[in-house]
Amino acid sequence: MPSMTGGGRPEPYDPVRTPTSDMGVLAETFWRLPGVLRGDHPSSTFAAVGRFAERIVAPQPLSPPHGLDSPIGRVYELGGSVLLLGVGHDANTTMHLVEDLAGVPYRGEHWALVSHGDGVRKVTISEPDHCCQGFDAADDWLGDAQRLGTVGNAQARLFSAADLVRVGVPRVTADPTVLLCRQGSGCMECDVAHASIVSTG
Ligand SMILES: [Zn+2]
Repeated sequence: MPSMTGGGRPEPYDPVRTPTSDMGVLAETFWRLPGVLRGDHPSSTFAAVGRFAERIVAPQPLSPPHGLDSPIGRVYELGGSVLLLGVGHDANTTMHLVEDLAGVPYRGEHWALVSHGDGVRKVTISEPDHCCQGFDAADDWLGDAQRLGTVGNAQARLFSAADLVRVGVPRVTADPTVLLCRQGSGCMECDVAHASIVSTG
């Protein structure tokens, strides 16, 4: 379950204290449940329960937060599935794994505070960053590989992470900015992503 704090907070990340940010009531409730483990990434945090929980939320590199060596990458390598519960693919973090595997050229940076010995350290996290509306393309890309249904009042989408990687990586490799809004179309976040390509060559 995503348990992101978003970083940029005035106090260092603490897995048993720091609330989620902009994740909704399910994610905020989940990590506080008994038996749930929460990872140590100070912004792109995940929480997990069950047989593979310890492996999924084991320590990971700060950057990129959603590569193969991350909770998202580990779920993919374990043959896991993704359930989008009441959200669309714009909230599908496994699309960041697709971007990482395809080697997209855009990057954004944000910071977070972490505890370091007796003190506090400011760290920079670098990752493909944008508005993520373009992730909605995954509805078409997955086609019949995605099951649609309802859970309570929520629209739900279920698919295997392997299927998403299989249909997504070739498309993003062929067109590395396919997931961004068109440059100058009014999306500031995607304009910044486009600009990061120019500035990093
Ligand atoms: Zn955009």
